Order: sequence, then C-alpha cells, then structure tokens
Amino acid sequence: AKYTKNDILRMAEEEDVEFIRLQFTDMFGTMKNIAIPFSRLEKAMNNECVIDASSIESFYRNEEEDMYLYPDPDTFCILPWRPQQGKVARLICDIYRADGTPHKGSPRYILKQAVKAAAEKGYSFKVNPECEFFLFHTDDNGRPTTLTHEQAGYMDLSPVDFGENARRDIVLTLEEMGYDVESSHHEISPAQHEIDFSMADVMETADKFMSFKVAVRTVAKRHGLHATFMPKPRGEVNGSGMHINMALYKNGKNIFADSEDALGLSREAYSFIAGIFTHIKGMTAFFNPLVNSYKRLVPGFEAPSDITWSSTQRTALLKVCQDRRRECQIELRSPDPSANPYVVFALCLAAGIQGIEENLQPSSELKVGIRELSEEEKLEQGIQSLPATLNEALHELEQDEWIAGVVGVPFLECYIKSKRKEWKSYEKQVSEWELAQYLYQI
Ligand code: GLN
Ligand code: MG
Ligand code: MG
Ligand code: MG
Repeated sequence: AKYTKNDILRMAEEEDVEFIRLQFTDMFGTMKNIAIPFSRLEKAMNNECVIDASSIESFYRNEEEDMYLYPDPDTFCILPWRPQQGKVARLICDIYRADGTPHKGSPRYILKQAVKAAAEKGYSFKVNPECEFFLFHTDDNGRPTTLTHEQAGYMDLSPVDFGENARRDIVLTLEEMGYDVESSHHEISPAQHEIDFSMADVMETADKFMSFKVAVRTVAKRHGLHATFMPKPRGEVNGSGMHINMALYKNGKNIFADSEDALGLSREAYSFIAGIFTHIKGMTAFFNPLVNSYKRLVPGFEAPSDITWSSTQRTALLKVCQDRRRECQIELRSPDPSANPYVVFALCLAAGIQGIEENLQPSSELKVGIRELSEEEKLEQGIQSLPATLNEALHELEQDEWIAGVVGVPFLECYIKSKRKEWKSYEKQVSEWELAQYLYQI
C-alpha cells in the first residue's frame, strides 16, 4: 500500500476534510456509500465501521448480518465537486464479515481473487477502458430526456456548446482527482461523448471507473445536463460501449507483443483471445447486463454482434492493435458501461489466462466486414453470434460452469435470480412499437 492509516489521518486533517464517504460497489455495479464525519475517520481506518448488509439485495444475506467496511488507504481522494471548505473525501472499501473473513460476494473481492490467481502464475494485468456516454437535456421538471441540444439545433442558437463545456469540465475534474486521462472526444451520435483513461493496473482502473461515473453525472448536472451510461438510449443512433483495452505482463514485460508475428502478437496473446472467446457467451450476461444492452449489440451501429476478431474490421468483437508504436494490447468491444467493471475485468483476466494455460488458439481472423458475409458463409467459417437478448445470455451463463469458479456460486445464483426477474418484468411489457404496429391494423 502507498499510504498508511496515519497518512490518511494526516492528509484528511491537512486538507480540512469534514466528511469521508466510505464507498463500495454492489453486484449490479452500483456504487453505495455511507458518510462519516472526520471524527470517525480513525475508527473507519481501524476497520470498525459497520453496515447492515441484510437490506443490500446483492449481498444475498437474508439473515441479519452486520458487515464491516475495510477502507483501502490507497483510494483516498478528495471529491472536487463538493465544497472546498470542509471538504469531502472518499475511500473505497472492501467488505468483511464479523468473523474477519472477506465477504465473497463483493465484486472487489472477486477481482482481487482473479488478480491474485494471476499473480501466483507471474502475471499482472493492465486495462484501459474507453467510456462512452450521452449528455442529454432535462425537461422543465428536471427529469432526464433523450433530447439533445445538438439535435434540437441548440448549437445554432447559442455560441456555447454545453456538451463540450461539460466534457471539458469533466476532464478537468478527473485530473484533479488524479486520473490520467488519455483523451476525450465527441462520439458519433449526437450528444455522445467518450473519455479514455491511460493503461493502468486493473484494480485501480475498476475503482476509477466507478468514481468516473459519479464524476460525470455530477459535473453534467452542474451544466444542466443529464449524463447517462445506458447502453442504447436511442434506437436510431449508436449506443454507448465500454471497450476494454487489455495487456498482460510477466516480470514487468508486455507478453502480448512479438515482433516476429505478422500482426505483432505473441502466442500468448492469441491464446488469451481464444480463452475469452471460449467463455464469451456466458460472460456476456455480465458484460452486457441490462435488457437494453442487447439493443446496442446489433449490426449497423459499430457494436459487435458476432464472435470475431480482426486487425482491420472495426465492428469485430475483439480488435488487435497494429500500431507498433503503442503498447501491444487487444481491445474487447462488447462490454457496455452499465456493466460491473470489477466482475468484467476479473472474467477477462481469468478467461485469458485459462486460454494461455490450455494453449487455445482462436479461429481465423475476420478480414472483411461482417455484413459482407452471408449466413452460410458465417456458418462455414464457424462464426457464432453473441447472445441476442438478456434471456439468452442468462441461459448461456447457466451453461458455463467455469464462470462460477471465478465469481463464486452464491454470487452467481443471486445474480441469475435477480436478472431473470428483470427479464420477466420486461417480457410482460407492451411497447410503443407494438401499439404503433398493431393497434390500428389488427
Ligand atoms: N459506440 C460504439 C459502440 O457501441 C463504438 C463506436 C466507436 O468507438 N467507434 O461500441
Ligand atoms: Mg475509442
Ligand atoms: Mg468510441
Ligand atoms: Mg474502441
């Protein structure tokens, strides 16, 4: 650890911190927190802060059980959007049970286990997510809409693009929080933006991704905009993905690179890809966790729908980087920003390493646009599709027993149960589309 308990107490004192938010992420990728005043910080740093976990669904505890928050001192960070006098800081916590054992249903624990298993084999893992999101207007009552000033011609009317100013403010805020922002840009859809981090340690990045979402929403709100990470808020334009660039290291050396190979990739890199592809169908239930996620994974919107890899085709599920000036990395393009980053990263790492250990090799590279292939050609080339709905993905998840080994059986069962409920509730809905199609005609 970078910091000790005393460092935290001293920094909080020096910075005039009044409140500390003890944060953790639940199974569904939602950040939770309790706030404590500065006077309780020492108690918190002694791992003595208790939460009643029985009402957190994803902790799958029916019995009354108190759980303990163990703050990770290295995650100490002042929240720049809170008052600058009497500041607010956050600490990200691990969850422990009263008997002093870690709670195995905590996503951070799941990632820690995957990182530990990899480290025992000599590997370390770095990732860099590309985070896409929309900045929409709110209505007169402050409720979010899917309208954008860009589409409404707002830019024509005003000299100021609120989206761009908000994005600028977001990036400055992130930098203040110690983020190393690689770049940010306006994405393809109106009101859609992307912010990319630099390649960094996987646990640090998962923590950062969670706080990133809070920062984006908070800063956007200050600009009168609603930020959403919903994967496909508007049917007619591209949705939002969370592409994940990954690289694996051994003794500090990137082992994905091999200059002898035509694409610059090592045998390990190909096996890593094959490992991910072996489990991609089941893992999709975590990578794309919402009913809405599957409306993004359709052809025509730069999101993948088939299980392919390529060095040239941008709609492939997995893209290998050909730019040799950059760190050799591979880019998985199916996950979306509604996913739980801890679980997604843990699965990618574990699946990739399994691929290496079993010396798996991926199918051949996709060299043409996937839409140029007929269904027969896809079949001939053995190209399979990603699950088309949450329901299908859950079915695949149940089929893949290996996944339980990564996330744990109780976590998995609770997740499937809850997601089935979500699917059932969706299935019963009568949509606008159905009314428009059938109400008059039939
Ligand atoms: N928004 C696209 C997606 O859904 C990606 C577009 C891009 O980054 N080129 O993944
Ligand atoms: Mg990008
Ligand atoms: Mg993008
Ligand atoms: Mg990308």
